[in-house]
Amino acid sequence: MPATALVVVDVQRDFCPGGALAVAGGDSIIPALNKAISAFRQSGLPVVFTRDWHPRNHCSFKEQGGVWPKHCVARTPGASFHPRLKVPRGSIVVSKGTRPNLEAYSGFQGTELERRLKRLHVGELFIGGLATDYCVKETALDALTAGFDVGVMKDCVKGVNLRKGDSVAAFRLLAGRGAKLTNSAAAIRKSRRAA
Ligand SMILES: [Zn+2]
Repeated sequence: MPATALVVVDVQRDFCPGGALAVAGGDSIIPALNKAISAFRQSGLPVVFTRDWHPRNHCSFKEQGGVWPKHCVARTPGASFHPRLKVPRGSIVVSKGTRPNLEAYSGFQGTELERRLKRLHVGELFIGGLATDYCVKETALDALTAGFDVGVMKDCVKGVNLRKGDSVAAFRLLAGRGAKLTNSAAAIRKSRRAA
């Protein structure tokens, strides 16, 4: 039977309150994520952490003509995972947006993630993290395209909502493409059954 994996998208300091590109309430999802992370590890299931990991001159930065303030510059404190997020040993860490001229909202874009998950016979992903309307959405869409069953844990995501309703629109789009809108409790139950 194909395995289930947990994917935690971009829970980095810069995307949490006090960071360079903070999502309002971005850190509020951490307790629920930590419970899911523990459950998946206890069941021996893969846990993936994606992170924005930009060079100083990344094309998404305003000073390079992009739309965002400078954020998640590789090896700076802002790029580190939030200090309350559990990142167990043996987790898969995926860095994205590492090249100056390539934006990567999705953890699958320009990375080895698809190949690594398929090598582990993963068929289903539960996804949480930041932000609903950007990197979570794009990661989930790419996961669907790659043929994974996808569950988005609504209690484990937060949106930017540059335009009002962006998060709701993201949920609607994902559901329309076949993602399940679910929660961390369902992901944890699934991980225990898979153990
Ligand atoms: Zn970025």
